[in-house]
Amino acid sequence: IGTNSAPTDKASQQIESKPNPNRIIQNDNKVVVGLSIDTLLEERWQKDRDLFKAAVEKLGALIEVQAANGDDALQLAQAENLISRGVDVLVVVPHNAEVSAAIVEKAHKSGIKVISYDRLIVGSDVDLYISFDNEKAGELQAKAIVKKAPKGNYVLIEGADTDNNAHMFKKGQMNILKPLVEKGDITIVFDQATKEWKPANALANMERALIANQNRVDAVVAANDATAGGVIQALTAQQMAGRIPVSGQDAELAAAQRIVEGTQTMTVYKPIKKLAETAAELAVKMAKGENVHADKKVNNKKIDVPSILLEPIAVDQSNMDATIIADGFHLREDVYKNV
Ligand code: BGC
Repeated sequence: IGTNSAPTDKASQQIESKPNPNRIIQNDNKVVVGLSIDTLLEERWQKDRDLFKAAVEKLGALIEVQAANGDDALQLAQAENLISRGVDVLVVVPHNAEVSAAIVEKAHKSGIKVISYDRLIVGSDVDLYISFDNEKAGELQAKAIVKKAPKGNYVLIEGADTDNNAHMFKKGQMNILKPLVEKGDITIVFDQATKEWKPANALANMERALIANQNRVDAVVAANDATAGGVIQALTAQQMAGRIPVSGQDAELAAAQRIVEGTQTMTVYKPIKKLAETAAELAVKMAKGENVHADKKVNNKKIDVPSILLEPIAVDQSNMDATIIADGFHLREDVYKNV
Protein backbone atom coordinates (compact mmCIF):
# COMPACT_ATOMS: atom_id res chain seq x y z
CA ILE A 1 0.00 0.00 0.00
CA GLY A 2 1.02 3.63 0.02
CA THR A 3 0.22 6.62 -2.09
CA ASN A 4 2.73 8.11 -4.40
CA SER A 5 1.23 11.42 -5.21
CA ALA A 6 2.55 14.34 -3.25
CA PRO A 7 0.01 16.75 -1.85
CA THR A 8 -0.75 19.44 -4.37
CA ASP A 9 -2.15 22.87 -3.77
CA LYS A 10 -5.43 23.13 -5.61
CA ALA A 11 -8.46 25.35 -5.35
CA SER A 12 -10.45 25.04 -2.11
CA GLN A 13 -12.62 21.96 -1.84
CA GLN A 14 -16.23 22.39 -0.84
CA ILE A 15 -17.50 19.45 1.15
CA GLU A 16 -21.19 19.42 1.92
CA SER A 17 -22.70 17.46 4.77
CA LYS A 18 -26.00 17.04 6.62
CA PRO A 19 -27.05 16.14 10.16
CA ASN A 20 -27.87 12.46 10.71
CA PRO A 21 -31.65 11.83 10.56
CA ASN A 22 -31.42 8.36 12.25
CA ARG A 23 -29.94 9.36 15.57
CA ILE A 24 -30.70 7.34 18.69
CA ILE A 25 -28.05 8.89 20.97
CA GLN A 26 -29.54 11.25 23.63
CA ASN A 27 -28.14 14.48 22.29
CA ASP A 28 -30.06 17.48 23.68
CA ASN A 29 -30.03 18.99 20.20
CA LYS A 30 -26.26 18.84 20.09
CA VAL A 31 -24.44 17.30 17.16
CA VAL A 32 -22.57 14.07 17.89
CA VAL A 33 -19.04 13.36 16.68
CA GLY A 34 -17.85 9.74 16.56
CA LEU A 35 -14.15 8.96 16.95
CA SER A 36 -12.95 5.51 15.92
CA ILE A 37 -9.31 5.18 16.91
CA ASP A 38 -6.92 2.35 16.04
CA THR A 39 -5.31 2.09 19.45
CA LEU A 40 -4.91 3.83 22.79
CA LEU A 41 -1.90 1.69 23.72
CA GLU A 42 0.56 4.38 22.58
CA GLU A 43 1.24 7.69 24.29
CA ARG A 44 0.47 9.85 21.27
CA TRP A 45 -3.00 8.45 20.61
CA GLN A 46 -4.06 9.01 24.21
CA LYS A 47 -3.08 12.63 23.75
CA ASP A 48 -4.98 12.81 20.47
CA ARG A 49 -8.08 11.34 22.11
CA ASP A 50 -7.94 13.70 25.08
CA LEU A 51 -7.29 16.82 23.03
CA PHE A 52 -9.87 15.94 20.37
CA LYS A 53 -12.52 15.17 22.98
CA ALA A 54 -11.85 18.45 24.81
CA ALA A 55 -11.96 20.42 21.56
CA VAL A 56 -15.25 18.84 20.43
CA GLU A 57 -16.86 19.50 23.81
CA LYS A 58 -15.60 23.08 23.83
CA LEU A 59 -17.44 23.56 20.55
CA GLY A 60 -20.65 22.48 22.25
CA ALA A 61 -20.90 19.08 20.58
CA LEU A 62 -21.01 15.57 22.01
CA ILE A 63 -18.39 12.92 21.40
CA GLU A 64 -18.41 9.12 21.38
CA VAL A 65 -15.03 7.36 21.31
CA GLN A 66 -14.23 3.75 20.41
CA ALA A 67 -10.70 2.26 20.42
CA ALA A 68 -9.94 -1.01 18.61
CA ASN A 69 -6.44 -1.76 19.92
CA GLY A 70 -5.12 -2.78 16.55
CA ASP A 71 -7.96 -5.13 15.59
CA ASP A 72 -9.40 -4.44 12.12
CA ALA A 73 -12.61 -6.41 12.60
CA LEU A 74 -13.20 -4.71 15.93
CA GLN A 75 -12.57 -1.27 14.46
CA LEU A 76 -15.15 -1.92 11.74
CA ALA A 77 -17.68 -3.27 14.25
CA GLN A 78 -17.14 -0.26 16.53
CA ALA A 79 -17.53 2.15 13.61
CA GLU A 80 -20.75 0.38 12.56
CA ASN A 81 -21.98 0.74 16.11
CA LEU A 82 -21.25 4.47 16.10
CA ILE A 83 -23.03 4.81 12.74
CA SER A 84 -26.11 2.87 13.82
CA ARG A 85 -26.34 4.83 17.06
CA GLY A 86 -26.51 7.98 15.00
CA VAL A 87 -23.32 10.01 15.11
CA ASP A 88 -23.48 12.96 12.71
CA VAL A 89 -19.90 12.61 11.50
CA LEU A 90 -17.24 9.94 11.89
CA VAL A 91 -13.57 10.68 12.53
CA VAL A 92 -11.32 7.66 11.94
CA VAL A 93 -7.70 6.88 12.83
CA PRO A 94 -7.46 3.69 10.76
CA HIS A 95 -5.44 0.71 11.92
CA ASN A 96 -5.28 -0.64 8.39
CA ALA A 97 -5.23 1.89 5.56
CA GLU A 98 -7.05 -0.37 3.08
CA VAL A 99 -9.36 -2.46 5.25
CA SER A 100 -10.79 0.71 6.78
CA ALA A 101 -12.27 1.70 3.40
CA ALA A 102 -15.20 -0.49 4.47
CA ILE A 103 -15.90 1.99 7.29
CA VAL A 104 -16.25 4.81 4.79
CA GLU A 105 -18.65 2.74 2.68
CA LYS A 106 -20.84 1.92 5.66
CA ALA A 107 -20.89 5.51 6.85
CA HIS A 108 -21.78 6.85 3.42
CA LYS A 109 -24.67 4.39 3.13
CA SER A 110 -26.10 6.12 6.21
CA GLY A 111 -25.31 9.57 4.86
CA ILE A 112 -22.47 10.19 7.33
CA LYS A 113 -19.27 11.93 6.30
CA VAL A 114 -15.90 10.52 7.30
CA ILE A 115 -12.73 12.37 8.25
CA SER A 116 -9.44 10.47 8.03
CA TYR A 117 -7.43 11.61 11.05
CA ASP A 118 -3.62 11.55 10.87
CA ARG A 119 -3.60 8.35 8.76
CA LEU A 120 -5.11 8.20 5.28
CA ILE A 121 -7.84 5.70 4.43
CA VAL A 122 -6.74 4.34 1.08
CA GLY A 123 -9.00 3.28 -1.82
CA SER A 124 -12.11 4.99 -0.49
CA ASP A 125 -14.24 8.09 -1.03
CA VAL A 126 -13.24 9.48 2.37
CA ASP A 127 -14.45 13.07 2.64
CA LEU A 128 -11.53 14.83 4.28
CA TYR A 129 -7.99 14.08 5.43
CA ILE A 130 -6.36 15.99 8.28
CA SER A 131 -2.77 15.18 9.13
CA PHE A 132 0.76 16.45 9.17
CA ASP A 133 2.93 16.62 6.09
CA ASN A 134 4.17 13.07 6.57
CA GLU A 135 6.55 13.06 3.64
CA LYS A 136 8.20 16.09 5.20
CA ALA A 137 8.42 14.26 8.55
CA GLY A 138 10.46 11.55 6.79
CA GLU A 139 12.68 14.18 5.20
CA LEU A 140 13.33 15.81 8.58
CA GLN A 141 14.37 12.44 10.03
CA ALA A 142 16.81 11.62 7.24
CA LYS A 143 18.23 15.15 7.12
CA ALA A 144 19.06 15.12 10.83
CA ILE A 145 20.75 11.72 10.59
CA VAL A 146 22.71 12.62 7.45
CA LYS A 147 24.02 15.71 9.23
CA LYS A 148 25.52 13.44 11.92
CA ALA A 149 26.56 10.60 9.61
CA PRO A 150 27.16 11.93 6.09
CA LYS A 151 28.69 8.60 5.05
CA GLY A 152 28.46 4.96 6.03
CA ASN A 153 26.14 2.03 6.61
CA TYR A 154 22.50 2.94 7.21
CA VAL A 155 19.77 0.87 8.85
CA LEU A 156 16.15 1.79 8.14
CA ILE A 157 13.61 0.72 10.76
CA GLU A 158 10.31 1.62 9.15
CA GLY A 159 6.74 1.73 10.47
CA ALA A 160 3.88 -0.74 10.04
CA ASP A 161 3.26 -1.77 6.47
CA THR A 162 -0.49 -1.45 7.05
CA ASP A 163 -0.20 2.28 7.85
CA ASN A 164 -0.10 4.64 4.88
CA ASN A 165 1.95 7.07 6.94
CA ALA A 166 4.79 4.56 7.20
CA HIS A 167 5.06 4.69 3.42
CA MET A 168 4.96 8.47 3.40
CA PHE A 169 7.75 8.65 6.01
CA LYS A 170 9.88 6.29 3.94
CA LYS A 171 9.22 8.30 0.79
CA GLY A 172 10.42 11.44 2.55
CA GLN A 173 13.48 9.66 3.95
CA MET A 174 14.42 8.37 0.50
CA ASN A 175 14.09 11.88 -1.00
CA ILE A 176 17.14 12.70 1.12
CA LEU A 177 18.97 9.35 1.16
CA LYS A 178 18.64 8.21 -2.46
CA PRO A 179 21.00 10.81 -3.97
CA LEU A 180 23.59 9.92 -1.32
CA VAL A 181 23.21 6.21 -2.03
CA GLU A 182 23.68 6.90 -5.74
CA LYS A 183 26.78 8.99 -4.95
CA GLY A 184 28.19 6.06 -2.99
CA ASP A 185 28.35 7.92 0.32
CA ILE A 186 25.65 5.86 1.99
CA THR A 187 24.86 2.15 1.84
CA ILE A 188 21.51 0.93 3.12
CA VAL A 189 22.51 -2.35 4.77
CA PHE A 190 19.14 -3.20 6.34
CA ASP A 191 15.61 -1.99 5.67
CA GLN A 192 12.58 -3.49 7.43
CA ALA A 193 9.02 -2.54 8.32
CA THR A 194 8.05 -2.86 11.99
CA LYS A 195 4.98 -5.03 12.43
CA GLU A 196 2.27 -3.09 14.31
CA TRP A 197 4.81 -0.33 15.09
CA LYS A 198 5.82 -2.37 18.18
CA PRO A 199 9.09 -1.54 19.99
CA ALA A 200 9.74 -5.28 20.56
CA ASN A 201 9.61 -5.88 16.80
CA ALA A 202 11.93 -2.93 16.16
CA LEU A 203 14.33 -4.33 18.77
CA ALA A 204 14.34 -7.74 17.06
CA ASN A 205 14.91 -6.16 13.65
CA MET A 206 17.75 -4.00 14.99
CA GLU A 207 19.41 -7.04 16.55
CA ARG A 208 19.22 -8.78 13.18
CA ALA A 209 20.67 -5.71 11.46
CA LEU A 210 23.62 -5.62 13.88
CA ILE A 211 24.34 -9.34 13.56
CA ALA A 212 24.07 -9.29 9.76
CA ASN A 213 26.58 -6.43 9.61
CA GLN A 214 28.90 -7.43 12.50
CA ASN A 215 27.89 -4.20 14.23
CA ARG A 216 29.26 -2.14 11.34
CA VAL A 217 26.33 0.27 11.37
CA ASP A 218 26.86 4.03 11.28
CA ALA A 219 23.32 5.40 11.48
CA VAL A 220 19.71 4.37 12.08
CA VAL A 221 16.68 6.03 10.61
CA ALA A 222 13.84 4.89 12.88
CA ALA A 223 10.33 5.90 11.88
CA ASN A 224 9.04 6.92 15.31
CA ASP A 225 9.95 7.11 18.97
CA ALA A 226 8.49 3.70 19.78
CA THR A 227 10.69 2.01 17.19
CA ALA A 228 13.66 4.21 18.21
CA GLY A 229 13.23 2.87 21.75
CA GLY A 230 13.64 -0.71 20.47
CA VAL A 231 16.61 0.31 18.33
CA ILE A 232 18.36 2.03 21.24
CA GLN A 233 17.79 -1.00 23.45
CA ALA A 234 19.58 -3.16 20.85
CA LEU A 235 22.40 -0.60 20.57
CA THR A 236 22.77 -0.40 24.35
CA ALA A 237 23.37 -4.15 24.51
CA GLN A 238 26.31 -3.66 22.12
CA GLN A 239 27.66 -0.55 23.93
CA MET A 240 26.76 1.44 20.82
CA ALA A 241 24.01 3.67 22.21
CA GLY A 242 24.91 7.35 21.87
CA ARG A 243 27.69 6.53 19.42
CA ILE A 244 25.55 6.39 16.32
CA PRO A 245 22.66 8.69 15.40
CA VAL A 246 19.06 7.47 15.69
CA SER A 247 15.93 9.35 14.57
CA GLY A 248 12.41 9.21 15.95
CA GLN A 249 9.00 10.88 15.81
CA ASP A 250 6.15 11.92 18.12
CA ALA A 251 8.04 13.73 20.87
CA GLU A 252 7.14 11.01 23.38
CA LEU A 253 8.43 11.78 26.86
CA ALA A 254 10.83 8.82 26.85
CA ALA A 255 12.26 10.01 23.54
CA ALA A 256 12.65 13.60 24.72
CA GLN A 257 14.57 12.19 27.70
CA ARG A 258 16.78 10.07 25.46
CA ILE A 259 17.52 13.13 23.33
CA VAL A 260 18.76 15.21 26.26
CA GLU A 261 20.66 12.16 27.56
CA GLY A 262 22.27 11.72 24.13
CA THR A 263 21.13 8.26 23.02
CA GLN A 264 18.57 9.51 20.49
CA THR A 265 19.48 12.23 18.01
CA MET A 266 16.14 13.76 17.18
CA THR A 267 12.40 13.41 17.16
CA VAL A 268 9.77 14.87 14.89
CA TYR A 269 7.46 16.97 17.01
CA LYS A 270 3.95 17.16 15.66
CA PRO A 271 1.82 19.67 17.59
CA ILE A 272 -1.11 17.32 18.12
CA LYS A 273 -3.19 20.01 19.79
CA LYS A 274 -3.44 21.86 16.51
CA LEU A 275 -4.35 18.66 14.67
CA ALA A 276 -7.01 17.76 17.22
CA GLU A 277 -8.48 21.26 17.33
CA THR A 278 -8.59 21.63 13.55
CA ALA A 279 -10.16 18.21 13.18
CA ALA A 280 -12.71 18.98 15.89
CA GLU A 281 -13.69 22.28 14.29
CA LEU A 282 -14.17 20.71 10.86
CA ALA A 283 -15.92 17.64 12.25
CA VAL A 284 -18.45 19.79 14.10
CA LYS A 285 -19.02 21.93 11.00
CA MET A 286 -19.59 18.84 8.87
CA ALA A 287 -21.89 17.39 11.53
CA LYS A 288 -23.98 20.56 11.35
CA GLY A 289 -24.18 20.31 7.59
CA GLU A 290 -21.95 23.31 7.05
CA ASN A 291 -19.43 23.42 4.25
CA VAL A 292 -15.75 23.10 5.06
CA HIS A 293 -12.82 23.63 2.80
CA ALA A 294 -9.39 22.10 2.51
CA ASP A 295 -6.54 23.67 0.60
CA LYS A 296 -4.73 20.52 -0.55
CA LYS A 297 -5.45 17.20 -2.21
CA VAL A 298 -3.83 13.85 -1.53
CA ASN A 299 -4.53 10.93 -3.85
CA ASN A 300 -5.57 7.76 -2.03
CA LYS A 301 -5.52 5.47 -5.09
CA LYS A 302 -9.22 6.17 -5.65
CA ILE A 303 -9.81 9.91 -5.40
CA ASP A 304 -7.98 13.13 -4.65
CA VAL A 305 -8.96 13.57 -1.01
CA PRO A 306 -9.45 17.17 0.17
CA SER A 307 -6.65 17.51 2.71
CA ILE A 308 -5.19 19.69 5.40
CA LEU A 309 -1.54 19.02 6.22
CA LEU A 310 0.12 20.66 9.20
CA GLU A 311 3.84 21.26 9.60
CA PRO A 312 6.04 18.80 11.52
CA ILE A 313 9.05 20.18 13.44
CA ALA A 314 12.48 18.56 13.87
CA VAL A 315 13.62 18.62 17.50
CA ASP A 316 17.07 17.81 18.88
CA GLN A 317 19.00 18.92 21.97
CA SER A 318 19.42 22.44 20.60
CA ASN A 319 15.71 23.33 20.29
CA MET A 320 14.10 21.05 22.89
CA ASP A 321 13.32 23.98 25.20
CA ALA A 322 12.08 26.27 22.42
CA THR A 323 9.63 23.71 21.02
CA ILE A 324 8.34 20.77 23.06
CA ILE A 325 8.86 22.47 26.41
CA ALA A 326 7.81 25.99 25.38
CA ASP A 327 4.58 24.51 23.97
CA GLY A 328 3.87 22.73 27.26
CA PHE A 329 3.88 19.37 25.44
CA HIS A 330 6.11 18.08 28.26
CA LEU A 331 7.34 19.66 31.47
CA ARG A 332 10.99 20.67 31.56
CA GLU A 333 11.57 18.84 34.84
CA ASP A 334 10.24 15.62 33.31
CA VAL A 335 12.37 15.85 30.18
CA TYR A 336 15.59 16.63 32.09
CA LYS A 337 14.81 14.28 34.96
CA ASN A 338 17.83 12.02 34.34
CA VAL A 339 20.49 14.53 33.34
C1 BGC B 1 1.62 8.27 13.22
C2 BGC B 1 2.81 8.36 14.11
C3 BGC B 1 2.81 7.18 15.09
C4 BGC B 1 2.60 5.87 14.38
C5 BGC B 1 2.44 4.72 15.33
C6 BGC B 1 1.60 6.93 12.55
O1 BGC B 1 0.52 6.82 11.67
O2 BGC B 1 1.65 9.32 12.28
O3 BGC B 1 2.77 9.58 14.80
O4 BGC B 1 4.02 7.12 15.77
O5 BGC B 1 1.48 5.93 13.55
O6 BGC B 1 1.30 4.83 16.08
